Amino acid sequence: MKTVDIVVPCYNEAEAVEAFLQETERVTASLGGYRFSYIFVDDGSRDATLSLLRKMQQENERVHYLSFSRNFGKEAAMYAGLQHTEGDYVIVMDADLQHPPALIPQMVEQIEAGHDCAAACRSTRDGEKGLRSLFSRLFYRFSNSLSDVKMPQNAVDFRMMTRQMVDAILSLSEVERFSKGIFVWVGFDTVWIPYENVERTLGTSKWSFRGLLKYAIDGITSFTIKPLKLIRNFGALLFVISLIYILITLIKTLVMGIDVPGYASLLCVTLFLGGTVQLSIGVVGEYIAHIYLEAKDRPVYILKETDLAAAKAKNDRAEDPADA
Ligand code: UDP
Ligand code: MG
Repeated sequence: MKTVDIVVPCYNEAEAVEAFLQETERVTASLGGYRFSYIFVDDGSRDATLSLLRKMQQENERVHYLSFSRNFGKEAAMYAGLQHTEGDYVIVMDADLQHPPALIPQMVEQIEAGHDCAAACRSTRDGEKGLRSLFSRLFYRFSNSLSDVKMPQNAVDFRMMTRQMVDAILSLSEVERFSKGIFVWVGFDTVWIPYENVERTLGTSKWSFRGLLKYAIDGITSFTIKPLKLIRNFGALLFVISLIYILITLIKTLVMGIDVPGYASLLCVTLFLGGTVQLSIGVVGEYIAHIYLEAKDRPVYILKETDLAAAKAKNDRAEDPADA
């Protein structure tokens, strides 16, 4: 029998986790030949998520959980979950049922057909607020035009992968993780399964606009250094233009003497250069920040509680004939 681990990041999902498990169990029950286990990752929830997970674990031996000491973000939660998987296949999905479990049988089918990964993508962005949808489109356009890692626009973090692909993802040890890019970067053969966007009915979205903006900037700076090259080229161009300008002014002054007009143009040039320099420093700073964070090499997350070690010890005992 093949084993499938389902990794579920949860942040304040008390309203959703039980419905999630029930719904997913209903779908997976129809898939013979596979043993599904769950690794719920409580990302420092402040509601009843953790106590619900403990209860669910008591009631179902295929349910496991990891709990962080504080909120480390969805990326960290996914990473922790993946690190603790052992199954032949791994599924990553959200707890809020916005990733329909009904797609799992199709994913299994595609993986059986020999693909390394079956990933869900939204056929529409309907139901998403206008502004968020616009910024999201802008982000993908901008990021994909800069980076060699082309991220499909409607991809969501709902996918089934082979052990080999999961190990490849885990081999990328960066602290600042951007999974949407990492999934593409590691390669492997991915089939896309489109689905209609589902609105969240349980609990609320955990993203703020600021959070999304940071996510977008991280996405770009994690996967391409083209912005650095762009500002370098732009700086070089400005340098050459200013040299020419100085030369012309010098000659003009020597030939025709000093003339007073020119405040407006001077001001324009100064402001423009000032702005460009500021912006460039900002972009460089963004990369330095990444280097700084990577150099500190802090753990991606800190675990506070889990049933997994206990589960393993129990397993080992069960297999050990001396104990029987
Ligand atoms: N999530 C998390 N940590 C966070 C934010 C979100 O583990 O800091 C989880 C959340 O519980 C959910 C998934 O990530 O299972 C997606 O979050 P959400 O539904 O809020 O995002 P959206 O669907 O609006 O993109
Ligand atoms: Mg959601």
